[in-house]
Amino acid sequence: MPEQSSVVPHAPVVPEVSAAWFERAQRVTPGGVNSPVRAFNAVGGTPRFMASGEGAWLTDVDGRRYVDLICSWGPLLLGHAHPEVQARVAEAVARGTSYGTPTRSEVELAEEIVARTPIEQVRLVSSGTEATMSAIRLARGFTGREVVVKFAGCYHGHVDALLAEAGSGLATLRDTSSLGSSGRRATSVAGTPGVPAASVEATVVLPYNDRAAVERLFAERGSEIACLVTEASPGNMGVVPPEPGFNAFLAETCARHGALLVSDEVMTGFRVSRQGQWGLDGAHEGWRPDLITFGKVMGGGFPAAAFGGRADVMAMLSPGGPVYQAGTLAGNPVATTAGLATLRLATDEVYAHVDAAAARLSAEVGARLTRAGVPHVVQSGGNMFSVFLGVETGPVRDFAAASAQDTGLYRAFFHAMLDQGVYLPPSAFEAWFLSAAHDDEALDHVIGALPAACDAAAAAYDEVTTGGGQR
Ligand SMILES: *Cc1c(COP(=O)(O)O)cnc(C)c1O
Repeated sequence: MPEQSSVVPHAPVVPEVSAAWFERAQRVTPGGVNSPVRAFNAVGGTPRFMASGEGAWLTDVDGRRYVDLICSWGPLLLGHAHPEVQARVAEAVARGTSYGTPTRSEVELAEEIVARTPIEQVRLVSSGTEATMSAIRLARGFTGREVVVKFAGCYHGHVDALLAEAGSGLATLRDTSSLGSSGRRATSVAGTPGVPAASVEATVVLPYNDRAAVERLFAERGSEIACLVTEASPGNMGVVPPEPGFNAFLAETCARHGALLVSDEVMTGFRVSRQGQWGLDGAHEGWRPDLITFGKVMGGGFPAAAFGGRADVMAMLSPGGPVYQAGTLAGNPVATTAGLATLRLATDEVYAHVDAAAARLSAEVGARLTRAGVPHVVQSGGNMFSVFLGVETGPVRDFAAASAQDTGLYRAFFHAMLDQGVYLPPSAFEAWFLSAAHDDEALDHVIGALPAACDAAAAAYDEVTTGGGQR
């Protein structure tokens, strides 16, 4: 019988079967993983190999259960193995898995996306990386300009031109604050070896939430700027929401200079509301981005993503227009069926539930950390939230401030939660995600684990402040 998640407070756990798989994996795959954050480098210890998921729960290969607070990094808005999504997917698979021709489900998914958002046309692709890469090519093709503006701490996939000060993955990799504020440089420095200087030469990186920096840059170089790409509400440096009116200001500034605003909603799209982050600001404020990128939730746990926007801009894409873009598995019938089923089930009730669960949990995390005497800032962007440990006062409004957190405290907190059957993001620079399946039982389990984890963070904090320990 699989062992139930431990109720013994913070009993150290030895993940024997995961450890054996991790050893095997490292022989055939660099670092043993297919996406770096999964390797636990930022928190140490053995990554857990998961065997199954159901609702709010994951079960690993050692038979231990965890309440899942990453939900596949956002996609699983309905939780694991939703029966209705599974049934639709099974039907789709029975009809064959890919034809390389147009299909009905990709049209229906595109219609659903267009109906929920301010975009007029959408092109489906297979990953968020592809979506932002293609959106930038399209913006450059449409404007005939080359410069791309991004914000430090925002991640847009591993696109060469956007791997400059790109938030969580790279921040986790280095775990230093040296990536902090820049933004005054004329050109950017690639965030990783392998990106030619030429690829980021036309990328300018600015500090997030900094209107003056945006104004200065557009005043100087407005006529060279093809697009400004921003996370609609950043979740890749921890959760650092836009200050009120910031996205509207970006839309207005871009419009004034003939540049396109590319709003990256790969994480927030269809997650923080029916209409994503745009539903929380743009829909009320009366502006719209020129292009939006989507991924994660819209794939329902399969590889599917999209970019879309103004019809006149999208008309530049091949086959109708000159800007080339393509994909063998783009609009795959199984993936689009899963995405469509997920979006159709993502009703107002689902969003209300996830919002309430996130509000309850984030408040509990803050209260327990306060009680344990750990300095912290808990920040929410819609129903995504994260915690910055060791930061005395908020708001954390940019990547420099996010990088001032003490990741050693998070490491202690993370492992205490993991040992008690709660799967948090294995990096302090990531958002926590909930789903419609996170019911009271799951939330109570997480909340029950908080005191021991806050004590572990407090002990780590004492070590730092008394200068006693080297972590
Ligand atoms: C996850 C993410 C991406 C990249 O999506 P992939 O499917 O991992 O390539 C791009 N932008 C944002 C905001 C994301 O959160």
